[in-house]
Amino acid sequence: MRIRVLGSGGADGWPNPWCRCPSCAAALDQGVVRGQTCVLLDDRVLIDLGPTVGLAAARLGVSLRDVDTVLVTHRHRDHHFPQVWVWRYWAREPLRLTVVAPPLVLQDAQPHLDGCLTVAAHPGDAHEVAGYVVRPVDANHPEDAVLYDVTSPDGARLLYATDTGILPDETVEALRDRAFDVVLLELAGTPIPSHLTLESWPGQVERLRAVGAVTATTDVVAIHVGHDNPPPDQLDRALADLGSRAARDGDVIDTARGRTILVLGGQSSGKSAYAESLLGSEVLYLATAPPRDDEDWSRRVAAHIGRRPATWQTLESGDVAGVLRDARGQVLVDDLGLWLTRVLDDHWESSDARSVFDAALAELADAWTTTRAHVILVAPEVGSGVVPATASGRLFADLLGRATTALAGLSDEVHQVVAGQPRRIR
Ligand SMILES: [Zn+2]
Ligand SMILES: [Zn+2]
Ligand SMILES: [Zn+2]
Repeated sequence: MRIRVLGSGGADGWPNPWCRCPSCAAALDQGVVRGQTCVLLDDRVLIDLGPTVGLAAARLGVSLRDVDTVLVTHRHRDHHFPQVWVWRYWAREPLRLTVVAPPLVLQDAQPHLDGCLTVAAHPGDAHEVAGYVVRPVDANHPEDAVLYDVTSPDGARLLYATDTGILPDETVEALRDRAFDVVLLELAGTPIPSHLTLESWPGQVERLRAVGAVTATTDVVAIHVGHDNPPPDQLDRALADLGSRAARDGDVIDTARGRTILVLGGQSSGKSAYAESLLGSEVLYLATAPPRDDEDWSRRVAAHIGRRPATWQTLESGDVAGVLRDARGQVLVDDLGLWLTRVLDDHWESSDARSVFDAALAELADAWTTTRAHVILVAPEVGSGVVPATASGRLFADLLGRATTALAGLSDEVHQVVAGQPRRIR
């Protein structure tokens, strides 16, 4: 299942356009703009229909013309904006949709649903639509809101859980042993019973874990995040400590593969510490450094190890592609420059250096795009300084630049750390 996050924000988006709070100011400053939460599954099933859904899709280069099913969680206008149905009429060939929604939503939508098949969503039911099995479960939220447990035709499982406060006991029980691939769990941040906050969110994940709905391989992601949370960068760090993250508009979560993040930075820019801060407590740390007999080097390595949690498992290897092919869970690879050093090891002076590199990069790129793990790869930036004086130095800078460029184009996210200041650039 390919989950496209069209919107990841709360009811008013984030930043709220009228708001002076530091969290909205930081979101603007950091360029992290979120529309109302809605997702698109395999370009066919749309969940929630907020006011910005159409433009959000178009800005991501996606059309809704292949959608055949719409699931709506509740009638709050950030999830069900009836005007969107009107635009369906204005299309050349109005789509005939299957609409699954609580009765209150169907009541609001009824004047606009000519030619559509409507299915009333009641907790406890199961519906098969377009090859997907859709099970509504109860939410702790007004307006008869439901959450959706969705199984795709290829067997992937998603829990779409917005909007809700503390999950009802019967919902947690209904999700027993579901072992979801992805859980999208709301984090509005507003301290009211119908929403979750950074204080109540981890407890819901633990409750889902206790019944086997969340497992070690479940990707748990916060959605419906709003300005009652800390600024975006602080929220990212708080969630990273929990082994999770907040979705951003445009994110694609593919259950057939993991998630890849490239972290760039110059020497001593803070890139490794930043990469480490994005991960949780269960991490495979892949050190690509070739063994060296050098006191200064040993001190640096010891400092790196001292900073990492004791629960991390460390592996020393230059075979990044091999490790990524077998890995699950969270992996940190530090770093690409040392990987390159190892690849070129005996080939620095030989004429086959470039072909050895090309083959190794092709293998790494293949593993990068097919890995099932959540991987962060640290890469040093060397190309922006002076041109190296030696031929091997120039070759290294040239090939590292090529490897970085190739992998950045294939990554889900690219972050850059300059003088200790991280920013996401893709
Ligand atoms: Zn909402
Ligand atoms: Zn605000
Ligand atoms: Zn709501």
